[in-house]
Amino acid sequence: MKKGSKIGIIGGGSVGLYSANLLLRNLENLEIDIIERHSSLGKKILASGNGKCNFTNKYVSPDHYNDRDFVAKIFKQYDINDTLSFFKKLGLIYKFDEEGRGYPHSESATSLLEVLELGLSDKVNSILNTTVEKIEVKENKINLHFDNTYKEYDYVIIASGNIASNLSSESNNNYLRFLDLKSREINPSLVPLKTIENLRDISGLRFKGGVSLYGDDELLHKEEGEVLFKNDGVSGIVVLQMSHYLNKHKRSDYHLKFDFVTTLNKQELKKYLSSKKDLLVEDIFKGLLNTKLAKRLLRESKINFDSRMVNSLREFEIELLVNLVKEYRVNIKDTYPFEFAQVASGGILVSEISDDLSLKRYPNIFVGGEVMDINALSGGYNLQFSWSCAGVIAKALIERSKEE
Ligand SMILES: Cc1cc2nc3c(=O)[nH]c(=O)nc-3n(C[C@H](O)[C@H](O)[C@H](O)COP(=O)(O)OP(=O)(O)OC[C@H]3O[C@@H](n4cnc5c(N)ncnc54)[C@H](O)[C@@H]3O)c2cc1C
Repeated sequence: MKKGSKIGIIGGGSVGLYSANLLLRNLENLEIDIIERHSSLGKKILASGNGKCNFTNKYVSPDHYNDRDFVAKIFKQYDINDTLSFFKKLGLIYKFDEEGRGYPHSESATSLLEVLELGLSDKVNSILNTTVEKIEVKENKINLHFDNTYKEYDYVIIASGNIASNLSSESNNNYLRFLDLKSREINPSLVPLKTIENLRDISGLRFKGGVSLYGDDELLHKEEGEVLFKNDGVSGIVVLQMSHYLNKHKRSDYHLKFDFVTTLNKQELKKYLSSKKDLLVEDIFKGLLNTKLAKRLLRESKINFDSRMVNSLREFEIELLVNLVKEYRVNIKDTYPFEFAQVASGGILVSEISDDLSLKRYPNIFVGGEVMDINALSGGYNLQFSWSCAGVIAKALIERSKEE
């Protein structure tokens, strides 16, 4: 890379800000522009982790992503330890919770954004309220078109994220069509799921229990956690995780099964329910389940329980109730739309991208973060991927500066 090289970064989000900081600290005489379509930098960082910014995870591994092999190559070059030591250098104090999730010590995303912005000082030109509309490769230069004009760069970093969340209602990656890259269709991920069944009668109810995702009747993933019922679907961290597996496996028919009482196995539950022999059947779930949920399950059992006592239930009827509690099925119609999603699955195919994150066809253009066909589970893994991508891109540019 020649002295005085011009670098254009499309997008002032996590990849854009972190890579600019790394480049400034490692290379001299650069001109860096960050072109950002919003009126300020790092808007999504501020929204992350409910404003607390779960920026990494101690237990991060390539298995948390949709493409483990590709992510393993990235983490080999720039991992969580590199990330933590750089954030330390930038002045961020952080902490981890018992599940390994990393947060700024202040529990405020603002702290993380502040250190990234402070690091840029006045050495980086932030061009705000500006959308890159076209990208053009001309011999050794790359032209970025915005505001009815264009600017010429030696290197470009594509860090424009994807359209998940209500911060990005219009598609922001239209300019990518000028590069004619192969990409996978994008879908909302880490998003609530819509059900075919109407859940209005239990809407607002939360429970902690087991959740299993089935695709075409095959078990795809099983996990315990908190679920929130909505009028027309289900939410909660564990459901958001299920949406990741739903996108990863691509089946035609999905359903979820809930285990409302993980502390009792089927046999124990059967014994417990049978022991209530002197109660009316309508009271059988009292002391075990939320009242609204109990009503729904009894209704769905289709057992005629008017004035019947539990001891009149036949064995198959008790087993039916046990199954409703331990394997309650809801059928998935769809995911909620992009504005409810934390990330988008899909994006530029990794087959277009070299190990140093430059494009195979355009080696002076680099790509990082969510704009690629990489996404992860919830837990700090998506942002860790952003930091690692930025690290790999900066390393590649530093290497090139030695060659030229
Ligand atoms: C509500 C919410 C909560 C989240 N919480 C977490 C969390 O706690 N932990 C975690 O790991 N992940 C979380 N994520 C996901 C994480 O924020 C993203 O994966 C990550 O920010 C992606 O980084 P990026 O740099 O690729 O894209 P972004 O951070 O989205 O940055 C892209 C930037 O490019 C700009 N841009 C786009 N197109 C153009 C254009 N044409 N011209 C100019 N500018 C453009 C955008 O405005 C944006 O500022 C959350 C996401 C959301 C929506």
